[in-house]
Amino acid sequence: MRKKLIAANWKMNNAPEGAYDASSPFHANTEVDVVVFPTLLDIRDCNDAQIITGAQYACIEETGAHTGDVCMSQIAAAGCRYILCGHSERRKDHGETNEYVALQVITALEHNLHPILCVGETEEERDAGKEKDIVTAQLSGIPLESDITIAYEPVWAIGTGKTATPEQAEEMHAYIRSLLPEDKRETTKILYGGSMKPENAAELLSQPNIDGGLIGGASLKPDSFGQIVQIASR
Ligand code: PEP
Repeated sequence: MRKKLIAANWKMNNAPEGAYDASSPFHANTEVDVVVFPTLLDIRDCNDAQIITGAQYACIEETGAHTGDVCMSQIAAAGCRYILCGHSERRKDHGETNEYVALQVITALEHNLHPILCVGETEEERDAGKEKDIVTAQLSGIPLESDITIAYEPVWAIGTGKTATPEQAEEMHAYIRSLLPEDKRETTKILYGGSMKPENAAELLSQPNIDGGLIGGASLKPDSFGQIVQIASR
């Protein structure tokens, strides 16, 4: 049995009101793993509030002349346990390639950070029937034999209000699982991301190969996020 993981991606938003309260849903509980990806500026406050954190990005270089960047060892030293690698917004806004993302995953593992690798196709790619080829390419070069988590995030469903149907998501999750080395197939978590909210979470999270969610918009509303965590706890 894989324990469900519900991750909040706050993107470039401030922490929602009440996030640091002891009763907020952003704290891990015994039933579900919960991790928050705040902006770098909010990591310390989250950690002080005993919230498990990750960074939304880190550079693959160790140190040096990389203005505006922050490296994996700094992320680890700040108390983060996780790191998002290859979120579609980073791929689009910052030109992160599959090769670069693979290096990020490798560097994260070297620093004992747990990578959550984001993969997923655009609407155009799905319309052309290429979703599996795209995801296969995004997974090539990734050390799938390592302890990582994968988030299947169809780009057309991120922040759009459109959600993959449970059947579409399950088909992709099962496909991704089939690409994992045999000894990792049972243990590797595969999260779904793309407009997950309390209204659709139960159906998505009840699919056999969906092990949790990466939540953007709904993670900025503690009530909604809390409901998703509750659903995942069932
Ligand atoms: C995300 O940012 O990874 C995401 C899935 O966002 P949203 O839930 O808003 O679609």
